[in-house]
Amino acid sequence: MPIGKVHSIDTFSTLDGPGIRTVVFMQGCHLRCKYCQNPDTWNPTTAMAREYSAEETMQVILRSLPYFQASGGGVTFSGGEPLLQAEFVKEVFKRCQEYNIHTAIDTSLYVATETVLDLLPFTKLFLADIKHINNEKSLNLTGANNRCNNENLEMINNKQVEIWIRYVVVPGFTDAEDDLLVMADFISAMDSVTRVDLLPYHSLGSHKWKLLGLKYELDNIDPPSHERMQELKSLVERRSNKQVFIPT
Ligand code: SF4
Repeated sequence: MPIGKVHSIDTFSTLDGPGIRTVVFMQGCHLRCKYCQNPDTWNPTTAMAREYSAEETMQVILRSLPYFQASGGGVTFSGGEPLLQAEFVKEVFKRCQEYNIHTAIDTSLYVATETVLDLLPFTKLFLADIKHINNEKSLNLTGANNRCNNENLEMINNKQVEIWIRYVVVPGFTDAEDDLLVMADFISAMDSVTRVDLLPYHSLGSHKWKLLGLKYELDNIDPPSHERMQELKSLVERRSNKQVFIPT
């Protein structure tokens, strides 16, 4: 049975899918997003992570079953990148299915398509990042090519599993209107995309970079204004015909 390396567990989130959710933050990420708020999740072998079996994880999850049932909530795997520990996620999701618990994965989708395919039968919702629609800018922002992200999104869409897109608006990096229009065109053709979240960049995680001895490159970047976020929301909404939200 696979063992999960878990950074932390939040048993009462309302931001990571529908309803009240238990969020399991997995340890380990292969991207290096310049705006990452959780660089402490990157190292997959850190002694700070705790090992959980699927049974132990279910014990934590089942404590919130009444909240899930009352709110339409469930379980979300986040990170880090949860799909780097896909076998463990699958084991927990299989057990969630037995209790009719809603299952979601918050992922960059910068992983092999086979990994995603394997989890599809157990996953109700993908909270899927688009880091950048332009490949060169994705490389600069995350250190990785966006090709597998785009291919995985199209594959999940074709399999008719629900997707919420998440896109972080970082002034000077991801807020060019031309890029947002290309992204809106890309997702407008996807029937399984039911919602788009535009997340305003903030630097609340920057102290973690410093604690880890890492250079935080976005020190001089201010968060986008409320007005700018509203402009971009309207732009993406008009072009994509999708519901766009700015979660607070
Ligand atoms: S994918 Fe998420 S956890 Fe990984 S570097 Fe990017 S923001 Fe951080």
